[in-house]
Amino acid sequence: MRIARFTTDEEPRFAAVGEEQTGETVLAVLEGDPLYRPIRLTGEKVALVDARLLAPVLPRSKVVGVGRNYAEHAAELGNEIPAEPLLFLKPNTSVIGPGEPVVLPTQSQSVHHEAELAVVIGRVCRDVPRARVAEVVLGYTCGNDVTARDLQERDGQWARAKGFDSFCPLGPWIETDLDTADLAVTCTVGDELRQSGRTSQMIHDVAALVSYASEAFTLLPGDVILTGTPSGVGPIVAGDEVTVTVEGIGALTNRVVASS
Ligand code: ZN
Repeated sequence: MRIARFTTDEEPRFAAVGEEQTGETVLAVLEGDPLYRPIRLTGEKVALVDARLLAPVLPRSKVVGVGRNYAEHAAELGNEIPAEPLLFLKPNTSVIGPGEPVVLPTQSQSVHHEAELAVVIGRVCRDVPRARVAEVVLGYTCGNDVTARDLQERDGQWARAKGFDSFCPLGPWIETDLDTADLAVTCTVGDELRQSGRTSQMIHDVAALVSYASEAFTLLPGDVILTGTPSGVGPIVAGDEVTVTVEGIGALTNRVVASS
């Protein structure tokens, strides 16, 4: 099931994404919040073209990031591969949805895209063994772990560099049925393909990351775990249109604007 969060200029609502026989993508409106089940179909349908998609999840608590989880990416920034996953946090205020602008902060002269598979947690959990990770995952979406590269180096720790407002685009929806073992992850800026990796190149896979993070933090419904970025990261500037795609999920596009 693909779960979208959307609005038609009213309150945010949830929907199951489907396709009509005509090929048109439609949103079958859901009653209830998928993070706090049960949900059920209302029978109402809205054409995707008549809706505005929102971030499929607004974490009430946290976005957990993972540094250097692809060997080629660690190498391109001159870093060693850490023996264990290298966790960091992005504030929930950094989350934006599809089509919302990434705003370049005046404090940075070098903001980079990072295309990533994002895991959405569906249950309160702690100390989750690898074998039981599937029970606590609601589904998966595309994420862009936008990073002020110069501040990441200068600050020493990453809170500011990865935490600015708008630095965590998520979407377009949550895919609940997905085998994440070997999916293509790409980033294009305009027409240029910048990143092209596969989740099979992750040093620590999804189950390992969720399990490891849950040994540090209680994970809450709506928490998001970004799983690291493949090689090819690079700068984005005002006017760029950045698209992250994850095979089996869809495409997440955001334009980049200067701060006003
Ligand atoms: Zn990242």
